[in-house]
Amino acid sequence: MGPISFGSIKKQSDRAGVLQKKRPIRRNSSLALERLRSIVDGLEKDGAHQLPTERELAELIGVGRRAVRRALEVLEAEGRIWRRQGAGTFIGAEPHHPERHLKKLPEMTNMLEVMEVRLRIEPALAQLAALRATPADVDWMRALAAKVAAADDTDGRELWDSALHRAIAAVAGNTLFLALFDVVDRVRQDETWRHVREALRTQESVAHYTSQHDEVLDAIERRDPQAAERAMREHLMDLQQRLLLPTSGALADAE
Ligand SMILES: [Zn+2]
Repeated sequence: MGPISFGSIKKQSDRAGVLQKKRPIRRNSSLALERLRSIVDGLEKDGAHQLPTERELAELIGVGRRAVRRALEVLEAEGRIWRRQGAGTFIGAEPHHPERHLKKLPEMTNMLEVMEVRLRIEPALAQLAALRATPADVDWMRALAAKVAAADDTDGRELWDSALHRAIAAVAGNTLFLALFDVVDRVRQDETWRHVREALRTQESVAHYTSQHDEVLDAIERRDPQAAERAMREHLMDLQQRLLLPTSGALADAE
C-alpha cells in the first residue's frame, strides 16, 4: 500500500465548504457521513485500501473528530469499512481470519450452544476412549476424577472437571477431535459465564456428578464403548437440564 494522494478529495472538500455556507446548518455527523461516503468511493476508484486517519479526515471535511468517528461507525456497521486497533481504517469487508473468529466465539455463542455441541462430541470421545485407554490412562483419569471430588470450591471443581473431560478427550486418541474439544472448552471457560457455571454447582449436584464421572470411567476401564458413551451423555444431559432450569423458571414467572 503506497502513500495516497488526497488532492482531489481536498478540492471536493473546499467545494462542499462553500456550499455549506449557503445551506442551513446540518448536524456535523450527517455531513461527515455524506462526505466520508464520497471519500471512500473516490479512494476505492483509485485503488486505495486504507483511509486517512481520523484527524486527517476531520481536517479534510472540516468537522470535529467526534463527528468523523461517529460517521466511521456507521460505515463500519454497513460493512463499507473495517478498523483494526493500531493499524488504521480499511475499505471493504474485513478479511476472514479464522483465528480471530475463534477469539470472538465467546461473545457470539452461549452456554446452551456449548452444551449442544458437548452433547454431540463428548459421548463419542468417551466411546473412543473405551477402545483406546491403557491401564496408565485409566489411572490418570481416576486421579483427575478424585481431584474433582476433593475440590472444596467451585473454582477448583471447575478446573479439575475440565481437566478430567479433557483427559478423556485426549485418551480418545484423535487429534482433530481433541482440537474441537479444546475450542468448545475455551468458550465454556469464558469469564462471561462464570455465574451460570457457579449456579450449576450445588453441593448435592457435586456428589451426583462424582458418581457420574465414576460411571464413565468404569465403562472405559471395562472397555465398554456403548456404556461409556451412554454414561457421558447422561452426565452432560444433567448439566444441560440444570442450565435450562433457570430459563424455564423465568418463563413461568412471566406468565
Ligand atoms: Zn463432568
